[in-house]
Amino acid sequence: MEYSEGKKSAAEYAKAAVLRMASLGITANPQNFTVWYVYLSGLDPSFVRHVDSMLAKKEPFDETQCADLYAAVLRAVGVGTDGTREAAIDAVGSDLERAIAETTEILKRAGVETERYGETLEHVDGALQSAGTAEQMQSVVANLVEQTRRMADQNRSANESLQQSNNEIAELKIRMADIRNEALTDPLTNLANRRAFSERLADGMAKAEAHNMPLCLLMLDIDHFKTFNDTYGHQLGDEVIRLVAGCMSAEIKEGDTAARYGGEEFAVVLPEASLQDAETVAEQIRVVVAGQKIVRKASRKTLGSVTLSIGVSQYRPADSEDDLIARADAALYAAKHAGRNCVKLESDVVTDNAAERNVA
Ligand code: GH3
Ligand code: MG
Ligand code: MG
Repeated sequence: MEYSEGKKSAAEYAKAAVLRMASLGITANPQNFTVWYVYLSGLDPSFVRHVDSMLAKKEPFDETQCADLYAAVLRAVGVGTDGTREAAIDAVGSDLERAIAETTEILKRAGVETERYGETLEHVDGALQSAGTAEQMQSVVANLVEQTRRMADQNRSANESLQQSNNEIAELKIRMADIRNEALTDPLTNLANRRAFSERLADGMAKAEAHNMPLCLLMLDIDHFKTFNDTYGHQLGDEVIRLVAGCMSAEIKEGDTAARYGGEEFAVVLPEASLQDAETVAEQIRVVVAGQKIVRKASRKTLGSVTLSIGVSQYRPADSEDDLIARADAALYAAKHAGRNCVKLESDVVTDNAAERNVA
């Protein structure tokens, strides 16, 4: 489901939704607003049919019915793959926020105008009194003033409730962003997960291509981690994975992405970094991790340390993500081959092969 209506119609639907809720005696909260906005804008035909049949049967819109309708709207929004669902949720958030903001603005303007109108009439009333004109006319005007005051009060309270809805919608948007964040974060380490890594890498490569900038990739793997797990247990192994993640995060700058690629393997995307820059970052991470003392919390016993092997590749125009990853992986393999706890560049892989050819 897409929210493609223009600004003007969004405001119209929003206004119509507010009016419809009022006429049906429905509380104007963000959930109900969403329901009537979606209904009136006809975004989801099956939802429209559902509401139409309820209206035809004159079913009451009590709290339960309203909650059911809201759930139905969310189901309509939730159709599609994970990605489209997130896009749809984002779209709902921004469209609703915009629509409500516009409606609030409209009502605010209307409120100001009505108040001004009231002031004018009050002047007329005062003038008529002091002039001592006909009583009947005076009472007509006084009545008009009273009506206008009531209108102004009504507008003010509608305005306040719309403003409150607006705040609630803004909070809803933040919650949606949190949900999206969760979907892109590795729960053990809080690093970017594989999916987020892929997004950032694709994004970085596109920018590197467009602006003719360098971009490098590190692939990192904990050395002999199976032995560590077998010796000290999986739980402590998890702690070590978290420790390595913390070291990686501390050594990169804003705009870089440290990700958990899977298991005890990590990746770092370094936009704008030359091969030498990337080698420096890799070396810093390697040294910092190797320098960490692993201590068992309960017994305070020092268990030694873990090391990393790291491979570095640099983006080449027309590379696919897989190409770049494969070259960093080959360099990582070369680092393992060279005895572990070291950094190898993609250029080292060529040299190693050439060296092997020379030996042969
Ligand atoms: P190498 O130096 O060649 O990388 O040796 P290695 O033992 O690290 O490599 P291998 O691929 O044989 O084993 C990886 C081990 O990492 C296997 C598994 O016990 C451990 N591992 C993978 N994911 C996790 C995890 O989430 N938590 C813990 N504690 N261990 C993990
Ligand atoms: Mg591994
Ligand atoms: Mg390993």
